[in-house]
Amino acid sequence: MDTALSPELSAFRDEVRSFIAANLPDDLRRAARRTPSVFHDPDVSLPWQRILNARGWAAPDWPVEFGGPGWDAVQRYIFISECVAADAPHLAPMGLKMVAPVLMHYGTPQQQAYYLPRILSGEDYWCQGFSEPGSGSDLASLRLRADRDGSDYVLNGSKIWTTHAHFANRMFCLVRTSAEGKPQAGISFLLIDMDTPGIRISPIHTLAGDHELNQVFFDDVRVPQANRLGAENDGWSVAKHLLAFERGGVYAPALVARLREVERACPEDPVLRQKIARQAVSLEALQAIELKALRKEGPTAMYPSILKVLGTEASQAIDVLACDILGTPGWRAREADLPDDIAVTVPRYLNNRAASIYAGSNEIQRDIIAKMMLG
Ligand SMILES: Cc1cc2nc3c(=O)[nH]c(=O)nc-3n(C[C@H](O)[C@H](O)[C@H](O)COP(=O)(O)OP(=O)(O)OC[C@H]3O[C@@H](n4cnc5c(N)ncnc54)[C@H](O)[C@@H]3O)c2cc1C
Repeated sequence: MDTALSPELSAFRDEVRSFIAANLPDDLRRAARRTPSVFHDPDVSLPWQRILNARGWAAPDWPVEFGGPGWDAVQRYIFISECVAADAPHLAPMGLKMVAPVLMHYGTPQQQAYYLPRILSGEDYWCQGFSEPGSGSDLASLRLRADRDGSDYVLNGSKIWTTHAHFANRMFCLVRTSAEGKPQAGISFLLIDMDTPGIRISPIHTLAGDHELNQVFFDDVRVPQANRLGAENDGWSVAKHLLAFERGGVYAPALVARLREVERACPEDPVLRQKIARQAVSLEALQAIELKALRKEGPTAMYPSILKVLGTEASQAIDVLACDILGTPGWRAREADLPDDIAVTVPRYLNNRAASIYAGSNEIQRDIIAKMMLG
């Protein structure tokens, strides 16, 4: 992007770059590089979030009135590019990028005043309670019951694949408040305190050996009706609004940085070098689409699905390239210079198989794109 930057944007990039250089501690940088998942544990992400928050930069996408820095789309892109180039920890998206925008859109002034500052400061750590056993792609079939009792709902059922539920003190959750009419019409969106009696968290270990995921059980869990976001039985609209933020986003800067690491470790093998060059060209195309999406040019409604498919599939292609390098004869001789990124190649490959499943599987995203294009 450097060649396209105006003097003002170059100055902005330099300001961000020097802030990161001066404030990102080496131990956090190293821990981030050695994390095989896109989800960095809170002992890595929260210290960095606090440093950014003190500078007013923890939530680049938020409007100024809620504590955002007031940057335009290109500034946000530059900021993300500089963070990933410096191996900064990834901030947990569930609070900052998922529940925050729906709080801004659907929340009461009281809910906004209470939750948003706690998200920015990292005091609240959120998890997402959408999927259930039997309700993933067909999310509207969810069954976790929320029955009215006085001023509360009483919840019974379970959620599954709940990323970082074991760290979170809050969950945003879709529950069934009515069995009448279409399944989508009987869902409500609740904000739940994870310390509420009756909530039990059971770990699920992934293929890569990580503990990121959980099943969460609810046995007669009382949640005040005041903790509902949006109207009763209108939770599906809230969820759809949120999913547009969960998908989409910005993939290319991190992938460009990863591909550079892979290239650095690559032996003089013409076939591998050609594959890396092809991938670099695809990333240029992805970057161009991301910038169009940020500027709201072109088919805006389709971008969340388009970028989710292209970004996650490019990241898996880079995993395969990194594994190919590990398998090159004679490569072990170079192990002494192993970049951190390559050292976690196999765990990352295994962990990242999930990228084309979570946030709505890529098959479902292709269905959404096809429906929008074909009507
Ligand atoms: C690492 C990871 C983290 C996750 N984190 C969370 C979280 O924090 N919170 C949360 O709520 N959920 C989370 N999920 C759940 C995720 O959203 C679901 O796994 C996803 O929506 C797919 O649902 P499913 O697993 O039930 O698969 P299914 O819906 O059973 O799908 C199985 C397969 O069938 C395909 N398929 C299904 N329907 C169709 C169709 N109509 N057309 C074409 N193909 C179809 C799918 O693409 C998939 O390949 C996470 C999942 C993973 C893997």
